[in-house]
Amino acid sequence: MLALMARRQDLTSRFIGNFTQQEPIPEAAIEAAIRVMRTGRLHRYNLANGEVGEAAELELEFAALTGARYCLAVTSGGYALATALRAAGARPGDKVLTNGFTLAPVPGAIANAGCVPHFVEITEDLVIDLGDLEDKIRESHARFLMLSHMRGHICDMDRLMSLCDGENVQVIEDCAHTMGASWNGVPSGRHGLVACYSTQTYKHLNSGEGGLIISDDADLMARATMLSGSYMLYDRHKAGPGSETFADIRLDTPNCSGRMDNLRAAILRPQLAALASQVAAWNARYRVVEEGLGNLSGLKLIERTPQEVFVGSSIQFLLPGWPAAKINDLLAACAARGVELKWFGAAEPSGFTSRYTSWRYAPAQVLPETDRILDALMDMRLPLTFSLDDCALIASIIRDEVIRLGR
Ligand SMILES: *Cc1c(COP(=O)(O)O)cnc(C)c1O
Repeated sequence: MLALMARRQDLTSRFIGNFTQQEPIPEAAIEAAIRVMRTGRLHRYNLANGEVGEAAELELEFAALTGARYCLAVTSGGYALATALRAAGARPGDKVLTNGFTLAPVPGAIANAGCVPHFVEITEDLVIDLGDLEDKIRESHARFLMLSHMRGHICDMDRLMSLCDGENVQVIEDCAHTMGASWNGVPSGRHGLVACYSTQTYKHLNSGEGGLIISDDADLMARATMLSGSYMLYDRHKAGPGSETFADIRLDTPNCSGRMDNLRAAILRPQLAALASQVAAWNARYRVVEEGLGNLSGLKLIERTPQEVFVGSSIQFLLPGWPAAKINDLLAACAARGVELKWFGAAEPSGFTSRYTSWRYAPAQVLPETDRILDALMDMRLPLTFSLDDCALIASIIRDEVIRLGR
């Protein structure tokens, strides 16, 4: 009888949380925001005597956290990527390599710089395929790779960098999903020439919109600073190159305004100080879901390598060989029980989920491996508003439905 009741409970249990609900902004950040508003000095260059300003302080703190020599705060992650690419020397018409599996702001940033996205295959571990990358470098003669650490999956960065260094390809890292992650002890974003992060609401820090660029290259960062719209006030940046670097760059570089303001920076600084504990909280949730979906026939989890310290703010798995109709049934069955799965195999882009064939401004390409993987790829957010028990319930619902529909 008890067993029967437990079974009944299993089949009807429903999750009632919200997959897009982030945590509230911490009180310290709210207080910091109010302090800035009371001064009226929201523009980053509007400073009282001797004041550094929240935007410049944030840049100093993010540079220190990542170990980068320079940091620049801007309006969005997508703006950061386009600006980094231009500042790295990409010219309109240049081909820029990028992962076949990424999100719209990445090819969008390449197009924004007047460049042309050229997609590279991914592997079943959801990272860029280094063999295909080598082929595509040789056939395209591209000088830039915008490497997307999509959904926090980091490829073998030592092999990638030795390939790109050997071929004179500059690497711009998209770290929208790897803020707080590392590879072999090196923070994600510290392998390539320049790296970009997002502080948009669904990322690892939340200022609504926002972006950060880091690099050790003084000329590149001077160009990025001028592009971001620093007028001639670059000496108010404390994590930027010295004014001698700007001698020509300040006159040769257009102003394409995209500065971060002091209000957003104020909201971000207390969150940055708490990043490590947030990462631990995400990973605890990730591991509960991962364990709940383990050893399940028909479902393949993505193995994480020991070199990779990742941030489990979302989880992915593959349903290899499942026909589209059955995947749609699974999506519907999980949705009916409150679990919001996203499928990268759908023909039409929906919400944040799209695939390379939906970016028709890029030249048409066929990536058979990427297609095969995306057709089987499921994706789920893990906001920190979920408890560990929530995560266990979510995993058990997916597990039930995969078993029920998978046979
Ligand atoms: C969010 C995101 C970005 C940056 O997006 P913004 O919304 O412009 O901050 C870049 N790459 C990926 C993979 C993203 O998910």
